Amino acid sequence: MSIIDVSDSDRQIYERELQGFLPPKIFDAHVHLFDRSCMNPTYQCLPRSIFGKFGGVFTLEQCLDWAKALLPEQEFHLNSFGMPSYDADLNASAAYSGRISDNRRCFAMSLVSPRDTAEAVIRRVEHNHLIGYKAYLNFVEGKKPREIAIHDMLPAAQMQAADERGLVITLHIPRPGRLADPVNQAQMVELCRRYPRTRIIFAHIGRAYYLSNAIGFLDGIAACPNAYLDTAMVNHEGVLEYAFRNFPRDRILFGSDAPVAFLRGKSVEVNNQYAYLMGEDYAIGTSIYDASHAVTFTTFFYEQLRGIKLAAERAGLSRAEIENVFFHNASRLFQAVATRNYGNRKE
Ligand SMILES: [Zn+2]
Repeated sequence: MSIIDVSDSDRQIYERELQGFLPPKIFDAHVHLFDRSCMNPTYQCLPRSIFGKFGGVFTLEQCLDWAKALLPEQEFHLNSFGMPSYDADLNASAAYSGRISDNRRCFAMSLVSPRDTAEAVIRRVEHNHLIGYKAYLNFVEGKKPREIAIHDMLPAAQMQAADERGLVITLHIPRPGRLADPVNQAQMVELCRRYPRTRIIFAHIGRAYYLSNAIGFLDGIAACPNAYLDTAMVNHEGVLEYAFRNFPRDRILFGSDAPVAFLRGKSVEVNNQYAYLMGEDYAIGTSIYDASHAVTFTTFFYEQLRGIKLAAERAGLSRAEIENVFFHNASRLFQAVATRNYGNRKE
């Protein structure tokens, strides 16, 4: 079992910077939870995989232990999905997600592949009382990664079925141009308009981790009432401030991307790009490891909370709006979908 890595200096950050700002309830809308049963028998945690820090898996129990250490005074709610990897068994992952969710404090989504029939997706979702699904570009086959488009990730038959049930979809948008990519821009709006009962959460603020990728590119989806943003792994206060000023605040959901967020590091903008400066030698995307320990890091999680705090101050969010972003926006959305599809609560 992994050790909860919270230092005295992390505790000081909580006390000095976060304690007075955070509301009493936090809903993390973007968490990856899975145990061994979710993975194919051949699954091995590779040497620099981030899951190495957590013993190769990240279960609900581990997540709650971490949340308690990092947020000692807050009531923690979450929405989880499995690990989007070739090593994942999507049916087993959905079954695990169903077992750990109560549709009150813990909600969950299924992972889907575009190869899955709509019937298979709906069976996976409904059988496990899940509130929707998460699409990820890893599962698209037969196309170069940089050429994958949103419509390749979410086939029409799956979307139609999701729309009939008013499900929630979390989407990690593809393409190197990210939020600013013109094909993404067109398809994000098309998706929202074509399937108006589906709620679509654009993860990581459309992966706009640096400011020039965000400015001017939220307007299309801001005009779609069923489009949402989650803030997972965005600690850039400029991007967050831009989102608070240019996207309806009742459709912005706090998300962390735990357990990635529980590593030590910070995402930094460099020359209209970004890199993850890593305090620990794990590989995530465009990461640069501080091997000589030039600086002392805290977790991405605390850097995200710091970024939201600064952005909320600059954009002038009210206390009620801060509580909505951290809790009520997600809680209301997921609760409504669970109630509509499965009745009041799970036994
Ligand atoms: Zn994620």
